[in-house]
Amino acid sequence: MGLARGADVGVVQGVGDRVWKFIWGLNVPPKLIHFIWRACSGVLAVKSNLFRRHCCPDDICPSCGVDSETVLHALYLCPSIRQYWEASGFEELLSNTATTSVSSWVIEAIELLHGDEKGRFLAMLWAMWAIRNDKIFEEEQRCPDVTILGLVRMVAEYQGYKNACVGGGGRVLAADVGSGAWSVPNVGETKINCDAAMFDGGEVGLGAVGRNALGEIVFVASRRCRAGWSVDVAEAKALEFGLEIAKRLEMEVVVLESDALNVVKAVSKRAFSRNSLGMCVSDICRYFSLLAVKNICHVKRGGNTVAHLTARICHIAGEERIYVTDFPTPVTSLAELDLI
Ligand SMILES: [Zn+2]
Repeated sequence: MGLARGADVGVVQGVGDRVWKFIWGLNVPPKLIHFIWRACSGVLAVKSNLFRRHCCPDDICPSCGVDSETVLHALYLCPSIRQYWEASGFEELLSNTATTSVSSWVIEAIELLHGDEKGRFLAMLWAMWAIRNDKIFEEEQRCPDVTILGLVRMVAEYQGYKNACVGGGGRVLAADVGSGAWSVPNVGETKINCDAAMFDGGEVGLGAVGRNALGEIVFVASRRCRAGWSVDVAEAKALEFGLEIAKRLEMEVVVLESDALNVVKAVSKRAFSRNSLGMCVSDICRYFSLLAVKNICHVKRGGNTVAHLTARICHIAGEERIYVTDFPTPVTSLAELDLI
């Protein structure tokens, strides 16, 4: 069909100075900058480009088989990747963007986003291209969720590293902020990574994954609640959920880990203030006397991807899933990445 992996097809629309400067100023890995530049220049080997150059007989999208495959279609508009955008948390914001050209759309989206979200959005675009190529060129396909989280993590780690090198904004005490990489607990301990996912309609997914000193998964637990919690409260509820499961499974020594710095600090300081977060903190601390909780640590998002994915496993409010064997493959694949 004339498709070739990684090949570019001549500059179709070109990018202006403004776009060029904008792209090269992004705080993301050079490889991702290069990809965004290729996407915005319209040179990615999508079928509409190949068709125009008489390299294939039609321009129909190989994923959905319905529309013409333009760059924008392949990265965002194709119905076959809708589910990933819906799960990304960007969907509402992107629904108001004008999809006239790739470069103007990317810039509009980036300008609406703040801080780390920019890198995560660009990593999503990169992942959509990788998923599309896997589908077309690979016999054995990687799990799309693993591709997305792997690239998101790579970008987050790069940003963390770069910020550490250039000093970032204000000095942060090393003891407060954990590293970007997951590390195994001590022998005899179970480390529980916890995370919350916010869904439409106030629903919240809680995820907790326990692993031992060999990095082996001990349990994977997910619960979806119908609750209008704030992000901090949801993150605290995820920690409490992790402890609840550890208690049920009669774990001995437990280390808790979360990417929510505010919550980790509040629990470390036993900040029982009279607000909803303070109440969650006291609920969490109550478990400390029931279980041998050794420590609560912060890890950057890149080190908490396993819990992040687990928080999204349940699809129905009120549903709870606990695995102590036969863990979901996407979770085990991500856990393997943590050990590299
Ligand atoms: Zn399509």
